[in-house]
Amino acid sequence: MTIPDRGELLYEGKGKRVYSTSDETLVRVVFKDDATAFNAQKRGTIQGKGVVNAAVTERLMQVVAEAGVDTHFVARVAPDEHLVKRVDIIPVEVIVRNRASGSFAKRYGVEDGLELEPTVIEWCYKSDALGDPPMNDATAVALGFATEEQLHDLFEGAAAVNDALLPFLDERGLDLVDFKLEFGTLPDGTVVLADEISPDTCRFWDAASGERLDKDRFRLDLGDVEAGYQEVAARIALEETS
Ligand code: UDP
Repeated sequence: MTIPDRGELLYEGKGKRVYSTSDETLVRVVFKDDATAFNAQKRGTIQGKGVVNAAVTERLMQVVAEAGVDTHFVARVAPDEHLVKRVDIIPVEVIVRNRASGSFAKRYGVEDGLELEPTVIEWCYKSDALGDPPMNDATAVALGFATEEQLHDLFEGAAAVNDALLPFLDERGLDLVDFKLEFGTLPDGTVVLADEISPDTCRFWDAASGERLDKDRFRLDLGDVEAGYQEVAARIALEETS
């Protein structure tokens, strides 16, 4: 396919810039090295993060697409840049948790790393100003953030993403602790997976040692943040292990 040229900057977020293209159904997304945590109170730069996140997201979007999940991904058009379908983002952050960690472990006073059975899928309202507050189905519907049907699609989609990623990452020695997904709607109303699946939005632990290889290295000042991102990229690029 011909890659449509970059047009104007439509939106700049914490981790990405979104540009229009000459095709109104497509946008180009540039992944940035800028890093933020704790609702943007902590800021920094992670060298090479944009390229890692673009590469990891490309591969993981392919994995979930092969499992039958519709996504916005079209092509990686530069090391740090994707061409994607233009969607309206549903303002619901979908959090999938295989183990308790981060804010969840704190909220319920449980050990970091506790295995969760069944897997927990929860919603947060996507609002930086409000710090992404958790909400239930009734809240999301009553406040007009999503319809009941869309929530059903988000739940089924998130469960399917988890089922596809767990074995793929396990083969590469990565423990998928938790992650955040965002979905959007195409002009015909179809719900598709959007945004990214990367060490910025997933907790990846080394399966053997429990070492954190994701943004927690930045959040918690664990050191060698770049090395963690590069390790995730290297493992995900592996076609097969052993
Ligand atoms: N997450 C994210 N963006 C957010 C909030 C969370 O990508 O605005 C990801 C985070 O990286 C983790 C998972 O969602 O993999 C669960 O995060 P949690 O609710 O524990 O919040 P955190 O402790 O990261 O603030």
